[in-house]
Amino acid sequence: MRHQVVLIPGDGIGPEICRAMRRVLDAAGAPIEWEERIAGAAAVERYGTPLPEEVIDRIRERRVALKGPLTTPVGTGHTSANVALRQALDLYACVRPTRTLPGVPSRFGAVDLVIVRENTEGLYSGIEHEVVPGVVESLKIVSERACVRISEFAFQYAVACGRRRVTAVHKANIMKKSDGLFLRCARRVAERYPQIEYDEVIVDACCMRLVMQPERFDVLLTDNLYGDIVSDLAAGLVGGLGVVPGANLGSDCAVFEAVHGSAPDIAGRGIANPIATLWSASMMLDFLGEAAAAAALMAAIEAVTAEGKTLTPDLGGKAGTREVVDAVLGRLNP
Ligand code: ATP
Repeated sequence: MRHQVVLIPGDGIGPEICRAMRRVLDAAGAPIEWEERIAGAAAVERYGTPLPEEVIDRIRERRVALKGPLTTPVGTGHTSANVALRQALDLYACVRPTRTLPGVPSRFGAVDLVIVRENTEGLYSGIEHEVVPGVVESLKIVSERACVRISEFAFQYAVACGRRRVTAVHKANIMKKSDGLFLRCARRVAERYPQIEYDEVIVDACCMRLVMQPERFDVLLTDNLYGDIVSDLAAGLVGGLGVVPGANLGSDCAVFEAVHGSAPDIAGRGIANPIATLWSASMMLDFLGEAAAAAALMAAIEAVTAEGKTLTPDLGGKAGTREVVDAVLGRLNP
């Protein structure tokens, strides 16, 4: 059986890394039929919107997508296409495994944590208005339903993946009602998972501890904004944004994408690191029930990084995207 997957190449380095990813999966014989769709800046030019309805409909039908980064012009009327897509498909859980790959230079040896981020509300609700000229209000929406389901997801994930601890990240000392509700829900869910340790950390202290003792963390349960910030911090611990994958999961659909953005500073130069997207593709294969193919792809990626000869400039190497892809393919199909 072949899986039907919507592919959204996206903006900036998106098309080059998605092409690279597709080359690897096709050459490896992954049973996938790709259906390519346009979103992001290219869609604004063609359809007048960064996220055409039709793209959302196709993902709803196919249920699985892999996407490159989408840019949203700053300060324009368009809301972020990434945020809009997560909300439209109710992709409420964002999962970002952040692990040091062998051979990848980083400040710490063995970071291995997973960020589980609430993906649909909080300060990303996009509800802002100008109260009077010079004063704006931005609403942080927090619902019990969303807090309970993301907490439930984090604990189920911990159990399924053999993780030992879930740490809720918050700022309930200041945002007593909103983050207070988040914590109350997390605690309630934690009681039902006695086999998983549960603790809490204030987001600023979390950032410091992540830098000083990243091995202390296992699964980090966060709201939308803290998850966004902590993800980039954690990426910095394991070699940067070029090596952190992600999945946006809902009850009906799943969209896989690297944590990084469109990297306009290096777009079109053939030096973008494809590993984050290849790893996201491996997560997708796992999700599709192709565990052996997922593991083989991960093993090939790790063999290439461990060897250390074919790394892109963000990891201190001199290789281009194409050479990394060739190296991964060499390991997959020796
Ligand atoms: P956006 O507005 O789309 O988020 P950005 O430039 O603000 O774009 P990122 O795209 O995440 O944010 O890039 C941050 C930095 O990390 C940039 O210097 C970029 O070149 C680098 N970077 C991100 N992804 C990669 C990658 N896959 N390979 C190499 N460098 C990357």
